[in-house]
Amino acid sequence: LTQLYRLVIDSVLLQQSHISLTPQQQHYLCRVLRLGSGAKFIVMDGKGQSWLAQLSERDAQLLEPLYNPTELSFPLTLISALPKGNGFEDVIRSCTELGVTTFIPVISTRTLLKPSPHKWERWRKIAQEAAEQSERQVVPTIFEPIPFTQVFSLLDSPADRYIPVARGEYPSLWQQLQNRPPQPVILAIGPEGGWTDTEITEAIAAQFQPVSLGKRILRAITASITAVSLASI
Ligand code: SAH
Repeated sequence: LTQLYRLVIDSVLLQQSHISLTPQQQHYLCRVLRLGSGAKFIVMDGKGQSWLAQLSERDAQLLEPLYNPTELSFPLTLISALPKGNGFEDVIRSCTELGVTTFIPVISTRTLLKPSPHKWERWRKIAQEAAEQSERQVVPTIFEPIPFTQVFSLLDSPADRYIPVARGEYPSLWQQLQNRPPQPVILAIGPEGGWTDTEITEAIAAQFQPVSLGKRILRAITASITAVSLASI
């Protein structure tokens, strides 16, 4: 079951073995992931249950429930302001090993990098190799880079949302993650220059909680690995 892609579907829509896909889900499976009729993929309800599913012409069928020996029991999304150089490749490699299910690279106010269009294919290859290496069942999804301000409209499902901020008296992410139910988690790590105050305010308005990863100032790559490690236990 290596190299299968994953789709989170609201459990309300999963009462029977037939899944009617929304136009967005259809687009994602057929255009973004380029899956054809008959292709298999994994459906997750985001609460720890998953199924092997098969795509048909206009919809999909659930084939069988999956026992998930290595996946986290909840989707873990990492929003990452693109670090300079090839830093994002390191983020993808390590954070795939740690269980991230979706990467959303973003361009923030202080992002230094203009990503080249060729990068995305390479990122996908790195994620696939890291998923195989760490014996995961699913390959994380990687979005194409988008401006940070556009990210909030993509996040519609309920999730625990955290924005690590390097300075300030915020509660620690570790503390915030204690005793929580296995809900989806979304983390947003800033660029080398940090998030701007406006970006932090916008994130808070979108239900992100500002958190600390300790008193030291971590590089963006270290901060990503640290935050994801705390969330993936
Ligand atoms: N240049 C900035 C730091 C940026 S570090 C400054 O001096 O303030 C890059 C990103 O890593 C930050 O935007 C934040 O998301 C995360 N980060 C680094 N260290 C952190 C810490 N101690 N607590 C919380 N987040 C941290």
